[in-house]
Amino acid sequence: MWLLLFVLTLLSPLSRGVFTGVSRAVQADTTFSLIVSGGLVYDGLGGKPVRADVGIIGDRIVAIRDLSDENAARRLDATGLAVAPGFIDIHSHAVNDSFEESGIVRHPDAENYIRQGVTTAFGGQDGDSPLDIGLFLSRLDETPVAMNIGLFVGHGSIRTSVIGEENRVPTDGELSSMRELVEEAMVDGAFGLSSGLEYTPGAFALTDELVDLAVPAGEAGGIYISHIRDEGGHLLDSVAETIEIGERSGTPPQITHHKVVGKGRWGLSSESLRLIDEARTRGVDAMSDQYPYTASSTGFTILLPPWAKEGGHSALLERLADSTLAARIRIDVINHIIAERGADPSTIVAARCPETPEVDGMSLAQMLEFQGRDVTVEAAADIALRLIKNGGCSGVFHSMSEQDVERIMRHPYTMISSDGGIPAPNSGVPHPRNYGAFARVLARYVREKQVLSLEQAIKKMTSLPAIRLDLSTRGRLQPGAVADLVVFDPSTVQDNALFGDPRHVATGVLDVLVSGVPVLVSGRMTGARPGHVLRHHR
Ligand SMILES: [Zn+2]
Repeated sequence: MWLLLFVLTLLSPLSRGVFTGVSRAVQADTTFSLIVSGGLVYDGLGGKPVRADVGIIGDRIVAIRDLSDENAARRLDATGLAVAPGFIDIHSHAVNDSFEESGIVRHPDAENYIRQGVTTAFGGQDGDSPLDIGLFLSRLDETPVAMNIGLFVGHGSIRTSVIGEENRVPTDGELSSMRELVEEAMVDGAFGLSSGLEYTPGAFALTDELVDLAVPAGEAGGIYISHIRDEGGHLLDSVAETIEIGERSGTPPQITHHKVVGKGRWGLSSESLRLIDEARTRGVDAMSDQYPYTASSTGFTILLPPWAKEGGHSALLERLADSTLAARIRIDVINHIIAERGADPSTIVAARCPETPEVDGMSLAQMLEFQGRDVTVEAAADIALRLIKNGGCSGVFHSMSEQDVERIMRHPYTMISSDGGIPAPNSGVPHPRNYGAFARVLARYVREKQVLSLEQAIKKMTSLPAIRLDLSTRGRLQPGAVADLVVFDPSTVQDNALFGDPRHVATGVLDVLVSGVPVLVSGRMTGARPGHVLRHHR
């Protein structure tokens, strides 16, 4: 009788539990380092979400299924939340040409990005990059940062290093030197060639030069990503040029921050997107990316004609000091404000003027009103020129229509980018895209306006850029993928940065993992810096 009771006790649920525990302890190496449990899992490829747990060992996702019976060193409860691959920003200014000045180096926690769910950012945009990609990336290897960073090599930086800021066609020798620099950058891990043809020296380059320099980028498997020559009056020519460069060089072309600038051209996105569709039909792998705002941001020198900027900033200041040339420049600025800025000085806002911070956040119209002057295009040109002479400003330019933003966003080959960086705290009134671009798509364009479904939006932030850049282990949630992952609440995710008051991080993103390491947990930054330097591999 006592013996029988003893045997029954051994077979009881309690003792089975003990035995199971022992067998699990034996298989300790299959214990998950982290399980994200109970969330609605979006694969990043556009598939419908499934309720599942995501099991991670080290930096990899190893299982996506019901893992409620499994052991884990740590669990994050995602019940009622969306679980998605970490977002990828294909156009970022987290990196400058100077290592020390780069946002990711100065602010390695990248909180403004992490709180949007961004785990990977690509710098070297608009033709402006470090020249020695290998050196820059190896220094970044030694610098712990919170998110992954990759680079494009900039056409403008290469051109300046070979022929200076001169407005002329390169000699054969210069062209081959520039080609070699592109080849080297690709060997060092660049993801392609960027250009900024609305800036100098990019504006001095003819189409043929860009074709020649895009060839080695494409041969190494990279793309050609371009801030096109003109996003306003010559938008369609400029999109066509970008596609031509891609088609002739064999390098996939990308119209970056695709937009339509200037009231007179609103609606033209249906034509620019048609050019992309036609190119794709011909077999040209053209795509674009976009930030979700109706205002852009760049330096006030965008108001100036390229000829005035030839030779660089000191040459510009010399021209502005010469009364004849200054008068010509003034006329060009007036014409630019009329043609490109709707003749409306209230659309041009100072974001950050290092020498005159008192005007940060004010439009040219407000500055004139403040001085008690009439708001005219001529007076606005004068005040803009004075600011440019006096240390310069970055600006915010309200110039696009909501309809174009939405139409471009809906296009299946448009991905989401920020065109933002990691701004210094407490200086200037930067564009809100720095703090809110990705969250704004989820809040305004998915939840409120239903321009995209949530799975479409996530795809545009994850697998679309990842596949574009041959990142085969990122941008998707599946076993084997790197555990870059974001957990957010689709019903509350929100960008909080406003044009007049931008310094507010996004909310509603609760957990962020980079390579399996929590960087954000329950809305709190952990201080971990597990970001990797990404190098392009075919
Ligand atoms: Zn740009």
